[in-house]
Amino acid sequence: MDFEFPNQVKIVQRTARDFARQVVAPLVPAMEETGKFPGKLLRQMAEVGLLGLVTPKRYGGSELGYLARTVAIAEISKVSAAVGMTLQVHHMGATAILEWGSHAQKDEHLPKLCRGDFFGTCAVTEPTGGSDLLGMATTARPERGGWVLNGSKCFITNAHLAGAQVVIAKTGEGSRGLSAFLVKKGTKGFSPGRNEHKVGLRGADTGELFFKNCRVGPESLLGDEGEGMKAALKTISETGRPGMAAVALGILEAAYDEAVKFSKGRTLYGKPIANLQAIQWHVADIMVDLETARLLCWRASWLKDRGRLDCATHMTMAKVYATEAAVRASQKALEIHGGCGTMMEYPVQRLWRDAMVCVSAGGTTEIGKIILSRAALN
Ligand SMILES: Cc1cc2nc3c(=O)[nH]c(=O)nc-3n(C[C@H](O)[C@H](O)[C@H](O)COP(=O)(O)OP(=O)(O)OC[C@H]3O[C@@H](n4cnc5c(N)ncnc54)[C@H](O)[C@@H]3O)c2cc1C
Repeated sequence: MDFEFPNQVKIVQRTARDFARQVVAPLVPAMEETGKFPGKLLRQMAEVGLLGLVTPKRYGGSELGYLARTVAIAEISKVSAAVGMTLQVHHMGATAILEWGSHAQKDEHLPKLCRGDFFGTCAVTEPTGGSDLLGMATTARPERGGWVLNGSKCFITNAHLAGAQVVIAKTGEGSRGLSAFLVKKGTKGFSPGRNEHKVGLRGADTGELFFKNCRVGPESLLGDEGEGMKAALKTISETGRPGMAAVALGILEAAYDEAVKFSKGRTLYGKPIANLQAIQWHVADIMVDLETARLLCWRASWLKDRGRLDCATHMTMAKVYATEAAVRASQKALEIHGGCGTMMEYPVQRLWRDAMVCVSAGGTTEIGKIILSRAALN
């Protein structure tokens, strides 16, 4: 078994790490303060190839695959989980179009997504339907060869930063009663709502979408009518969950670094607190969580790159484990900091807040466990 990354993945890792340290890090304080995504990052992320990692070369991507993507998102998230989140959902939008789009849709949208004209999105969640996908109320009614959308979405990442939204809406009843659409920015009857004020992942754009008699042409249907559930589930399970797992992995890496640094730097009883066994055990726990999450994330991505059908189960495992581990590890790192951990000037509090938000985004732990127990028991 070879745990050495291929050369190209190593290059992606180095590029993402340098980009995160040099370009993203200086923007973090303002993102924390304002909750706004710095717009100039979009093109800069495109320039270093982050936006097209899983898009084929013919559409302007690098086609480097999911292991490279996981490694890149983790490096970015180690510095800013909010930017990692933005990137991971961008890939969700791109893969939904890649997988379900017509030739014309791919030719029109994928090059724009790779070169940073705008970010991608995948709008599924609604006030009446989060975990309960079929509880959604947004409808798309056929009319004069096209469709009329009515309803709303909530908690949508990149809501205000996208040029075209991948939107799932009801076109009938039951699991075959959902369809996917591409709704362009500026379409009459479509408007993004408020930008949410979140406790964590501050600076990642999370917002509402409103559709009021929003007319779109027949070419807006993404995939066949009735395939929306399939499109949503595949996009969430094979791109969204590993993406969230990678964001959590970045948080875990940062929590480990902060815990080690503070333990060595803080002196009590005349010695660094790293000499106290209680602190050592915390650090050891964080270390085990980090390494376990890392291996789960890498393996799930490796399986996806090999086209293995069981990759979704492994991605769910990686998501459930890494996000829960990020909460545990960041809390332990925060405790190691004592009172300093509760001060805004120490980054560890941000890691803890970010980790908490990652648990529900991309599907909650409970839903993850339902999926995993089905895979094990059925
Ligand atoms: C920062 C952020 C970004 C997001 N980005 C996007 C995005 O880009 N696109 C998008 O479509 N959505 C997005 N979401 C929404 C996210 O996918 C949902 O929050 C998630 O699926 C949970 O849905 P909900 O919030 O409605 O919670 P609910 O579904 O209302 O769940 C409430 C509680 O009930 C539990 N629960 C629900 N069903 C069961 C069950 N059957 N058994 C046991 N427990 C259950 C849940 O685990 C949870 O604890 C984002 C969310 C966040 C926080």
